[in-house]
Amino acid sequence: MENQKLDIIAFGAHPDDVELSMGGTIISLVEKGFKVGIIDLTQGELSSRGNLETRKKETEKASKILGIHYRENLKFKDGSIEINENSIRRVVEVIRKFQPKIVFAPYFVDRHPDHESSAQLIKESVFFSGLKNFTTKNKSLKPYRPKKVFYFMQTYPFEPTFVYDISSYFDMKMEAVLAYSSQFYNPQSKEPETFISRPEFLNYLRARAEFYGFQIGKQYGEPFYCEEKIEFDFQVYLSK
Ligand SMILES: [Zn+2]
Repeated sequence: MENQKLDIIAFGAHPDDVELSMGGTIISLVEKGFKVGIIDLTQGELSSRGNLETRKKETEKASKILGIHYRENLKFKDGSIEINENSIRRVVEVIRKFQPKIVFAPYFVDRHPDHESSAQLIKESVFFSGLKNFTTKNKSLKPYRPKKVFYFMQTYPFEPTFVYDISSYFDMKMEAVLAYSSQFYNPQSKEPETFISRPEFLNYLRARAEFYGFQIGKQYGEPFYCEEKIEFDFQVYLSK
């Protein structure tokens, strides 16, 4: 598995970020036969609920539900993801090794500072990965730049470039999200309440998927942003 290429890599600042923001899209892409990997930048050690051990088990469970082909944690420090040469080189190594055509990353403006720094880190790494004179520790890795970077929505909304239909995958997405049982609403839990452990949060996730899904004439959707113009294909409307 280590030497296999991936079609798609989704980078998240914390385990569960990718599931929350684009779990349905991931399941759909896997089902279409694409090789999909998730790279978590931190282990979420600052999390107010659960611990590293439970988080790891939850991540494994969620990965199985998503059906992804690869998952790795780069173990950057939670709460202080720094954008420096060392962190860029580590992300570049991942990009050069797996050569994904599409990369997903958190959106630049968000409630959690780690999400914002991750957005910048991934953007810079995708760019530098394509430069032949940008060297990494592993000298056998060749320069490589993914074709597109798409940013996913976390807490703060943005005007999406496009919405992806996840109507058939919404229930499975929620299953993957709920694999992180320490993080979400549980009336038995004695742990401190957080922004996402309130029962309203799960309703919000559904409502948001409906909000964006409705706008493309579907039941559920996940929104994405791209800094570049997206080529349009009439085939979407002409087939079927
Ligand atoms: Zn996060």
